[in-house]
Amino acid sequence: MKKCKVCEKKFSEQGMFPLVKKGVSCYSDSDDLSQKFICKRCLAISDDYGKCSLCFEDVVYHMKDLRWSDGSQYCKEHISEVQMDEEELEDWEDYIDYISKD
Ligand SMILES: [Zn+2]
Ligand SMILES: [Zn+2]
Repeated sequence: MKKCKVCEKKFSEQGMFPLVKKGVSCYSDSDDLSQKFICKRCLAISDDYGKCSLCFEDVVYHMKDLRWSDGSQYCKEHISEVQMDEEELEDWEDYIDYISKD
């Protein structure tokens, strides 16, 4: 049994999500885990913790370490896959300018 960090009730491990440490940009291995767990119910209503839409593992991030894009949240590593950074965006706009000129 694991204790949920939020509601402090005990659940079997299958009903829990492991919480990654603060500041982790993308979960890679168990070294990134904080040893704390969040239950499904708390996660669903939590403003403090959330999951990355692209991470394969069922791990929970601190909300501060997540970024929003189009109504979904992503870890810092995956947000770059769904959002172009500003430099890329400028290049892209230049390209659009270029191809739309004739
Ligand atoms: Zn809970
Ligand atoms: Zn991710």
